[in-house]
Amino acid sequence: MGRMEERLKKAIADTAKTTKKVVKQISENPKNPKYIARHRHCVICHTPIPLDADPAHCGDQPCSDKHARQEKSRKRLNLMLYLFPAIAIMLFLFPILT
Ligand SMILES: [Zn+2]
Repeated sequence: MGRMEERLKKAIADTAKTTKKVVKQISENPKNPKYIARHRHCVICHTPIPLDADPAHCGDQPCSDKHARQEKSRKRLNLMLYLFPAIAIMLFLFPILT
């Protein structure tokens, strides 16, 4: 291994270590001006919502409606993802079995 590579690796490790330390300091101290409480965002309008919000939207009517629609189309797509290959396999096997 070259000297340059070794130095680079060490520098990367040091930076990672420092970053981890700073992030830990900020995230564990609510009095730090950079502190942000752990949270997530509404999947529709991106308003901050509690971590344990389920379903993951802010609860407003437009967001609730849109989320329900998205969830419905996601489920339909999921179903088709399994159904179409299954039909293709059956069509392939049918001539062989008969
Ligand atoms: Zn929302």
